[in-house]
Amino acid sequence: MPTPRTLREAQAALAAGTTSVVELTRAALALAREKADLNIFLELFDESALAKAAEVDAKRRDGTAGPLAGAIVSLKDNICYKGHKVSAASRILEGYTSIYSATVVERLLAADAVILGRTNCDEFAMGSSNENSAFGAVGNPHDPRRVPGGSSGGAAASVAAGICSIALGSDTGGSIRQPASFCGVAGFKPTYGRVSRYGLIAFASSFDQIGPFAHTAEDVAAVHAVIAGHDVRDNTSSDRPVQAAAPAPGKLRIAYYTECLERPGLDPEIQGHVQGHIDRLKDEGHTLEPITLPMLDHLVPTYYILATAEASSNLARFDGIRYGHRSKEARGVDDTYRRSRSEGFGPEVQRRILLGTFVLSAGYYDAYYAQGMRVRRLIRENTLKAFERYDLILLPTCPSTAFEHGSISDPVAMYLQDIFTVQANLAGVPALSLPTGRHSNGLPFGTQLMAKPFDDERLLATAHQLFPA
Ligand code: GLN
Repeated sequence: MPTPRTLREAQAALAAGTTSVVELTRAALALAREKADLNIFLELFDESALAKAAEVDAKRRDGTAGPLAGAIVSLKDNICYKGHKVSAASRILEGYTSIYSATVVERLLAADAVILGRTNCDEFAMGSSNENSAFGAVGNPHDPRRVPGGSSGGAAASVAAGICSIALGSDTGGSIRQPASFCGVAGFKPTYGRVSRYGLIAFASSFDQIGPFAHTAEDVAAVHAVIAGHDVRDNTSSDRPVQAAAPAPGKLRIAYYTECLERPGLDPEIQGHVQGHIDRLKDEGHTLEPITLPMLDHLVPTYYILATAEASSNLARFDGIRYGHRSKEARGVDDTYRRSRSEGFGPEVQRRILLGTFVLSAGYYDAYYAQGMRVRRLIRENTLKAFERYDLILLPTCPSTAFEHGSISDPVAMYLQDIFTVQANLAGVPALSLPTGRHSNGLPFGTQLMAKPFDDERLLATAHQLFPA
């Protein structure tokens, strides 16, 4: 019998008695090893995964198994799991073992998911191609010469390769949705504050959110229901109750941005595909209307000013003294900082720390950081205003399909990958990328839906209806 791909299929097979959680876990571990060339996993947690699987099978026999029994989950290497290594794909944290578990990990385990291993990513989640990992690039399962996207590249690939039914990643400016698009899977960034960040290694704290990857919106929703909700250990976590996952009733009002569809550089086939959905949904009786996003060109610069500022502050703790790699050559405190950080951080992380320190420095703070904060407010207001009239905003996830390894060397060109994804992070709204397209070059790509803050559950249920898998 073929290994089930989705969580729903796995649970059906478990219910039918044709497989067990131990068997699913063994199959996933074997497939991960078979596909080791893709460099998806930095580590497989054989022992704890198989022990958990046996525990879940025992609970199933007693009828006490949780809602994620049968889920085989990978964790991006910036999510802490007690007693397991975590490195943010950086040399600076090499050898570090988590002393506590992230809230999302506790909730996954309490719901009886099996955690298979930790996945490769861009160092400290900074990147759009997974090429910034200190532990090598990841091959896109659809074509290993191409990148899986980033920064949660290994996470997306672990699902696309059929190893895991679920992956957890983090999304600061698109790091769940862009790799989901490149790998042909679903990826969801929840509303800021909906999922606890406790135990997530911080990149830019006012943007970061943990979220799931899966094959379908339905499976995403099942995981979201488990990980969402208030956590006293994250003071930006919202205490609003998580909604029941009912789709929006009746016909919907959906907006799309003219500037996004007309943006030079958007692949014409992706443009045509999104336009096709607009026409189809109109035919199905929904209202679809163009609206404008005059600040489209300001999104990426605003994000990179604010995210690097926050990163420069968050990463100051990795100094070779309190945390992280300490240079063997170092003499004295200043020299220890300088050498440890130069040896421990890769070039992109160093670039961002420098950029972030610059925009926060005395003479430039007002011109860059404070100005960036003002523009962020305008972007947020503009985004929220659209949701006074519309239920959803429909847009492409990325301008292109997965590109070849090494083909984008200019950092600014790489940053522009995020043109359609950073808005949701700047505004704090939920956004989902669904695998809806197949390009004539053979590669998958996604379509993105944004909704108003805390409409996460409705967005997932509605997306499942609008784009049946
Ligand atoms: N590509 C963006 C960046 O490099 C987004 C990263 C992310 O969401 N973690 O910052």
